[in-house]
Amino acid sequence: MPKTFLKVALILLLLIYIIFSYTFDWGADLISPFYNIAVFSVMIYATRNKAKFKSNFHIIAYGVLSWALLDMAWFFLAHFTSYDPSESLWIEFIYITPNVLLLISAIIYFIKNMKSWNVFQLVVDAMTVLVIVMGISSALIFTYYPDSNLTGFEIFNITAYAVTDVFTLTILLVMLASTRIQNISKSIQYVTVGYMLYLLSDYIYVIDYIRNSYIPNSISDILFLASFLHFAFATIETQNDTIGPLETIPSNFGKSKVVYYVVLFALILYALQMISWLYIVIFLGVLFLYIVFNKFAQNFISSEILLKHEKEMKNRLEKLVEERTQDLRLSRDALKRQTITDSLTGLYNRDYFYQISEEKILNHQEFSMIYGDLNRFKIINDLYGHQMGDEVLKIIAKRLGSTMEIHYDLFRVGGDEFVILTSDIKKESLEKLVRSFVDIICQPIDIGQYRFNLDVSIGIASYPKDGKVISDLVKSADIAMYHAKGSNSSDKHVMFSEHMLERLNRRSKVELLLRNVNMDEEFKLFYQPQFNTSTQKLMGMEALLRWIHPEEGFISPGEFIPIAEEIGVITELSYWVFKKAMTQIKSWNDQYHQNWSMAMNMSAVTVNNIHFFNTIRKMIHEIGVDPSHLEFEITEHSAMSTSSIMEEVFAHLTNLGVRIAIDDFGTGYSSLSYLKRFEVDRLKIAKELIDNITSDSDDLHIIKAITMMANGMGLETIGEGVETKEQFEMLRELKCDIIQGYYFGKPMNQEDFENNFLCEPKNL
Ligand code: C2E
Ligand code: CA
Repeated sequence: MPKTFLKVALILLLLIYIIFSYTFDWGADLISPFYNIAVFSVMIYATRNKAKFKSNFHIIAYGVLSWALLDMAWFFLAHFTSYDPSESLWIEFIYITPNVLLLISAIIYFIKNMKSWNVFQLVVDAMTVLVIVMGISSALIFTYYPDSNLTGFEIFNITAYAVTDVFTLTILLVMLASTRIQNISKSIQYVTVGYMLYLLSDYIYVIDYIRNSYIPNSISDILFLASFLHFAFATIETQNDTIGPLETIPSNFGKSKVVYYVVLFALILYALQMISWLYIVIFLGVLFLYIVFNKFAQNFISSEILLKHEKEMKNRLEKLVEERTQDLRLSRDALKRQTITDSLTGLYNRDYFYQISEEKILNHQEFSMIYGDLNRFKIINDLYGHQMGDEVLKIIAKRLGSTMEIHYDLFRVGGDEFVILTSDIKKESLEKLVRSFVDIICQPIDIGQYRFNLDVSIGIASYPKDGKVISDLVKSADIAMYHAKGSNSSDKHVMFSEHMLERLNRRSKVELLLRNVNMDEEFKLFYQPQFNTSTQKLMGMEALLRWIHPEEGFISPGEFIPIAEEIGVITELSYWVFKKAMTQIKSWNDQYHQNWSMAMNMSAVTVNNIHFFNTIRKMIHEIGVDPSHLEFEITEHSAMSTSSIMEEVFAHLTNLGVRIAIDDFGTGYSSLSYLKRFEVDRLKIAKELIDNITSDSDDLHIIKAITMMANGMGLETIGEGVETKEQFEMLRELKCDIIQGYYFGKPMNQEDFENNFLCEPKNL
């Protein structure tokens, strides 16, 4: 129902009542309860939803209802019985019900609001208002009281009315005084006016009563009904009230005018000669005290507010500082993340790997590092470009990151080196981890139209077993990894062992000695004879290098040749050998008028050099040796990985008349294509095969196949490392052309060789 409709309807009813009250008493008596029930209904209806101060309004509404019921009773008695209700003190007494309900509502409202008031100020306001209101009321009542001759019950009635009214008025004024800084809502304004009208009419009624001049439906009744109208309006307006947040400042802070108005009211009464000057003196005294206490209370409140503000500011500041530090922390974390991760793969980087490892060592925490180096990764970079290489690394890192459980301890420490740090040091669990590491890397990688199959060599070292400081630990892992790389087995991971370190130390030592070697003093050439199987005559020898170090003694070529190849001294060393061997064979052939041939071992590193052929040609020329008396041996393994330079060099050597032999032939390399590529003259069947020729039928078959194939291709075969008569017999049966081995003669120095095989030529 629209608000205005309700308002207008109530106003109309009230107007009808007012008109009736002057013209038609009976009608006024009839309309009064109707009007009151209408007010009651509107109040309940308007507050049916969750309204602010709903319970307060309901109490007031029931006050109005009680009034309506009393009015109905009054109407019934006045018009349908001979009983005159205005004569009844009981009815008079029951009419106090609305007063009481209004008072209760005011008290509840008061209590509800107390939370938002400063108690000290409240007490000051309440005491002042109470004293002045009591004073005025008592003054007014005493002014009229003596004139009347009232009965005991009448006095009781008047006192009851007076007490409730004074009490209600006091509460009302205190509340007004206490609501200083808030805007008073429209509904509260209506209620306040309603209360005021109600109290005023009650006052008029009491005065009339004392004077015995009360006439029903007179001004006091009109005022009563007008006050109810305001209550109804208040409930209609309350729908617009929103429940705001609780104020942090007490609402009785600030200036209050109510007390001054009350005193002003007393002064008006004094001017009208309704109260005596004595009251005014008391009121002014009270007012003075009020000003003093009020000042004190207000100071107290303002310092409290300041304190609260300060606290709030502090909290806000703290929050701000907290936010700032959070921001700083975030950017610091981001920066840290940048410094500890590898920009290409997003894995942790080398620096962080060292940092974490050092922390673990500092805390004496056991851990293992699994050091993985991709095999043949360089080829991808060389053949397909670095971009492709980067792509491959990214894919591997992503796979490792998403598949491995220990994602957080995964590092990329170099171009193609990955490390896992794990607190595990048990062999079994490490092996399990390594297996998954290897599996991930060995999965084919498809990029565009290309597919890459990588594998990895892994070295494992554990703290504190394999190193007490990070550098030692990394070295150990590195050594183990190089062992894995060097091993021929398919299992590409190796745990570090002390033995490796010894070997490494020995290797470093040999390397150092080799770098400072005095070839002419420390190197010797030994010669091992080679015999023709069918003619049974000496047909040549192989030159084998011997190194006798003044302090270290004999160092085997098997040990120092690979190191020499690695550190690059092999070329110088080889030329020393070639020169010596060529000079030797020339001298022997000249001396003994023979055509023996001198076989020399050649390293792939040496051949793989454009100057090689010219150097050899020059050497042959200078020494004056017949090239057909020379034979170069290259291992099958080296020949396999030869470049085009080597092919060219071999062709030149063959043209020159020098023979080429493939050393250690038959040791696992199935590709024979190089036999076509190079102009090879001889195949030296590997000692490993010959070792088993009498016991292993497989090896026998291989040797058979080699000799047959060689014969078919017009190549000669040499059986090397022949140690027994049986081996020799079998090789002869298989038509192996040349024989070399301990059975016929160990490598020996020039003198011994001459004495044993040249002075008196020895046949088989
Ligand atoms: P290789 O070329 O396979 O040389 C044959 C090796 O077998 C020699 O070992 C020789 O002493 C040994 N041998 C020969 N007959 C028998 C036998 O019946 N029983 C056993 N158990 N061994 C036999 P050595 O002299 O220790 O040389 C080892 C390797 O060192 C050579 O293997 C060769 O690859 C390399 N080497 C030796 N001298 C030179 C050199 O001057 N230059 C280059 N580049 N490598 C060399
Ligand atoms: Ca050889």
